[in-house]
Amino acid sequence: MMDKSFFEEIEAFAGKGALLTEELLRNHTTFRVGGKADAFLSVHNEEQLKNAISVCRRYQVPFFVLGNGSNLLVSDKGYRGLVISIGKDMAKVTVEGSLITAQAGAMLGSVSQMASKNSLGGMEFASGIPGSIGGAIVMNAGAYDGEMKNIVKEVRVLTMSGDIMTLSNDELEFGYRMSRVKKEGLIVLSVTLLLEPKEQAAIYEKMNDFSTRRREKQPLEYPSAGSTFKRPEGMFAGKLIMDAGLRGYCVGDAQVSEKHCGFVINKGNATAEEIRTLIYDVQRIVNEKFGVTLEPEVIFVGDF
Ligand code: FAD
Repeated sequence: MMDKSFFEEIEAFAGKGALLTEELLRNHTTFRVGGKADAFLSVHNEEQLKNAISVCRRYQVPFFVLGNGSNLLVSDKGYRGLVISIGKDMAKVTVEGSLITAQAGAMLGSVSQMASKNSLGGMEFASGIPGSIGGAIVMNAGAYDGEMKNIVKEVRVLTMSGDIMTLSNDELEFGYRMSRVKKEGLIVLSVTLLLEPKEQAAIYEKMNDFSTRRREKQPLEYPSAGSTFKRPEGMFAGKLIMDAGLRGYCVGDAQVSEKHCGFVINKGNATAEEIRTLIYDVQRIVNEKFGVTLEPEVIFVGDF
């Protein structure tokens, strides 16, 4: 239960005032939706993270680990429990030869920049994905010619029982937008990537090419959570949605992007409820027309 002593125990290691009770999650999601969390804590180091989880377990308080919030649909009612944010205070990146080690909160864009500065190739695909490297491991984020699976050497994780383990690439059981971290609810602390020496100009050229393609094809001018649905085997979600006549389909301020039907966008003041209704409508209509069940890639957080 989240009582006074729960708050006191968290503040004992995180500092007075560290626990926020009025934090709107829409300020932490790229969809720009989401109500208040009962409590919100930005952790500064692994010790704080470990302590926060141990206190939550003791008090049986649900918790949610937040990266950059770029793959989430958070309920308008917010989150009942503690949101633990792993962000810029846990974002150190170091390079040693062809190995890059990044703390979970490091943004993929910064890690990619670090790779290119050090003439290390293999991570160009990730430079335009607006997530943290922790979130990218959970999701096995991928784009164009790459995915995290291809470049990860090992990941340090925290288990629910408070142990720290190092998992090798094989042990991470990566699949399409899937990993053992996701299946088992592990928490990513840091990630070591194994990259390849490559001519810097060629790295920048590739990154620029991907970035141009994103700007041309994706509705980056609107809040979204990227591709809303997973790719059904052998097909493209966006094409199915377009062929079902749903380009530009709206529920309130939520819309199937006219630029890329695989993206649901927030045109301004969309609520999570509107986005959820639109997602269900799209699923139902595509299923009726083509017999294909689109599975959301976006993760629903909180009560709907
Ligand atoms: P969040 O959205 O914060 O969280 C996602 C999940 O990971 C949640 O379950 C959360 O609990 C968990 N999580 C986060 N951090 C940790 C941690 N340290 N330990 C344990 N669990 C954690 N994705 C792609 O794969 N390819 C793309 O090309 C792509 N393009 C996108 C374009 C746009 C414009 C947007 C908005 C999104 C795009 N995405 C894409 C989706 C998203 O950026 C990725 O899924 C990203 O990896 C999510 O990272 P995050 O830090 O934002 O995670």
